[in-house]
Amino acid sequence: MRNYASPQQAPVRVHYRPRITPHASRHCTKMATPQRIKALDQNVVNKIAAGEIIVAPVNALKELIENSVDAGSTSIEIVVKDGGLKLLQITDNGSGINRDDLPILCERFTTSKLKAFEDLTSIGTYGFRGEALASISMIAHLTVTTKTKDSNTAWKAVYADGKLAPPKPGQSADPKPCAGRQGTQITVQDLFYNTPSRRRAFRSTSDEYLKILDVVGRYAVHCEGVAFSCRKQGDGGVGLSTTSTANVVERIRRIHGSAVANEVVEFSVSNKALGFKAKGMLSNANYHVKKTTLLLFINGRSVESSAIKKAIDATYLTFLPKGGHPFVYLSIEIEPDRVDVNVHPTKREVNFLHEDEIIEKIAEAIQEQLAAVDTSRSYTLTQTVLPGTQPQSVVASRVGQGRQQKDANPSFKPPTTKKTYENNTVRVDHRDQKITSMLLPAVRDPGGVGGGAETTEYEYDDGREWEEVTYSTVKTLRKAVRESAHSGLAELFLGHIYVGLVDAHKRLAAVQHGVKLYLVDYAAVCYEMFYQIGLSDFRNFGQIRFNPPLSLRELLQIAADEEQESRNAQTGGATPAGRPSKPGRSDDGGEDGGGSRDDDDVVMGDSDTPLDLHSNSHDEGFNWEGATQIVENTLRKHRVMLRDYFSLEINDDGELVSLPLLLKGYMPSLGKLPAFLLRLGPNVVWNSEMECFQTFLRELALFYVPEPILPNSEEKEKELAVILETVIFRAFRKRLVPTTELLAGNTVTEIANLKGLYRIFERSC
Ligand code: ADP
Ligand code: MG
Repeated sequence: MRNYASPQQAPVRVHYRPRITPHASRHCTKMATPQRIKALDQNVVNKIAAGEIIVAPVNALKELIENSVDAGSTSIEIVVKDGGLKLLQITDNGSGINRDDLPILCERFTTSKLKAFEDLTSIGTYGFRGEALASISMIAHLTVTTKTKDSNTAWKAVYADGKLAPPKPGQSADPKPCAGRQGTQITVQDLFYNTPSRRRAFRSTSDEYLKILDVVGRYAVHCEGVAFSCRKQGDGGVGLSTTSTANVVERIRRIHGSAVANEVVEFSVSNKALGFKAKGMLSNANYHVKKTTLLLFINGRSVESSAIKKAIDATYLTFLPKGGHPFVYLSIEIEPDRVDVNVHPTKREVNFLHEDEIIEKIAEAIQEQLAAVDTSRSYTLTQTVLPGTQPQSVVASRVGQGRQQKDANPSFKPPTTKKTYENNTVRVDHRDQKITSMLLPAVRDPGGVGGGAETTEYEYDDGREWEEVTYSTVKTLRKAVRESAHSGLAELFLGHIYVGLVDAHKRLAAVQHGVKLYLVDYAAVCYEMFYQIGLSDFRNFGQIRFNPPLSLRELLQIAADEEQESRNAQTGGATPAGRPSKPGRSDDGGEDGGGSRDDDDVVMGDSDTPLDLHSNSHDEGFNWEGATQIVENTLRKHRVMLRDYFSLEINDDGELVSLPLLLKGYMPSLGKLPAFLLRLGPNVVWNSEMECFQTFLRELALFYVPEPILPNSEEKEKELAVILETVIFRAFRKRLVPTTELLAGNTVTEIANLKGLYRIFERSC
């Protein structure tokens, strides 16, 4: 028997006793009889529960959409009035509901989606709790019309407070047969009619409608094979619609517009150990908006996750201009028993096991995809400073002179579609691959044709410097890299921890490996890595596209001017003894080059060091114009090969349209572009396949090496530090095969090891 009057059993009173005044004491004594606990009226309980689940019309609609999708519908039509407060109607063509289930349809915890209690923990069922319809019926007028395939009539049922209710007073509550097509129509009227305070909280029905359009739009993007439409009642127009056959890009286009649909790339990642698969569409670096759009689905349900959003935003930081944000559609499937959706009444947020690890994996995959070679990138020159005396914008406009208006529009242009060669099809995903993995023997030939990629040959139809290009050339070059791999260095680069930028001018950074600290000449390592990326991504480069394209001639002219200037500066105007001119090893340019043969020899001189462009060009009277002309002709002559193999595209008008993109998130300094192009003339061995690939890729690598940064350029240095840490050194880990050549020339120098340091400190103590 309880004795509530005893203070010992009423700790609350004990607590207050010292402060009790006689009057208050009387009062307290009166109050001391605790109020008896009564069970709330079931109806009130239900309304409270419903109010937690259905906070706004959009919550009800989301549940209804999910039910329709679960019922296998391929068409879902939604009609809304007053932001869903007056009317929410959803009509689907799914399985329908059995007549016999209608009486319990809206009872709490009735569901067809859980078979046993254990199912609750296996949330492939995504927390089906059988609460949605029950909740809606507690706080709105609910009508369900439904027909299954096997029923020869449709049934209409009205619900109130979880139970069948008569449509009109005095009528029977039983479902009534009526005409109707297969599927289910659910009509929700007067939401919150019996919780007026909540209803009053909605100030703007148009805000509610926008939320509805948002959620319908999410499912419309996600649900492949389902047509969606959503409109306001009495409104002729449709707020949103997609067809059932539209693919995901078309659906994104329909709902979010072409600006984003043109710039999305597909991505996917999975991990068995972590028990998840993720796929989606990402906007590339050409697209950015003020706020991130994240369409996130976990196990088929639209959810929110601030952790995932944060990770995505962080991943895009290096790809987008400051303040720019991406569009991301991400669908994650996680093994059901690792997910808990029940933490949040509206199931908007979910918890899952290994959340951090999974998010990290996804962020990494996004990062890789963004930088992946198949991504094309439009690049508008306005932000870049080309070298020379002119400021950037002047150069850009000068280079763009004569472009037609349509071409001057900096909008996206799809890259030319690449033919798929068998050679490429053997590589499932080249992005992560190092040369070592690409050299693994005997790649299965999907076509079953003997010999596989090694022997496949293909041709290009222009120029024909060599009759056929064999993939084995590239393989040989890759093999050479692999054969010079250095295992000790490999270990170092694989397991290093990036410490920081040490000297941006000398291009040195520090890394730690084990107990040792090293100084790394990142320029030298980049030179090697970009060459290797060139080999492994051969024919699969992404593009940096110039919009409008840049006149080759003008770029070459800029390079020549620069070159002349720097020569003059070096020699103080004196003419050094010219290096004897050797016969050019190129057969290019002479015939149609416009320059004299002598000039050709000079420009195409046998220069082995990349920087030794043309030493006797100090000669007064050196024909620079002829030289740039020859280089231009050479590049144009080889443009089909350059485009097909290296994504370096030159159009019919002799303009540079695109450059190969080697590493996502990293843009080579375009200040080096003119010099890079000029050097291609003499430094690439155009008439031998193997040498051509090799020398071209070496030049390309050189172009990609980060420039030394002059002291006092703090901004630039900061920028570089971020790129080094987040992109370049990470790429060293993933994409570099460190070769014995890197051992030479102090590329990596041990500067300290912990034991040594300890000893020093011990001594100094
Ligand atoms: P849950 O979705 O968690 O099972 P609901 O209250 O949302 O709970 O739905 C209860 C049940 O009603 C579902 O399990 C399903 O069997 C049935 N149902 C609801 N909506 C539809 C629909 N549009 N088509 C077919 N069946 C439906
Ligand atoms: Mg449901």
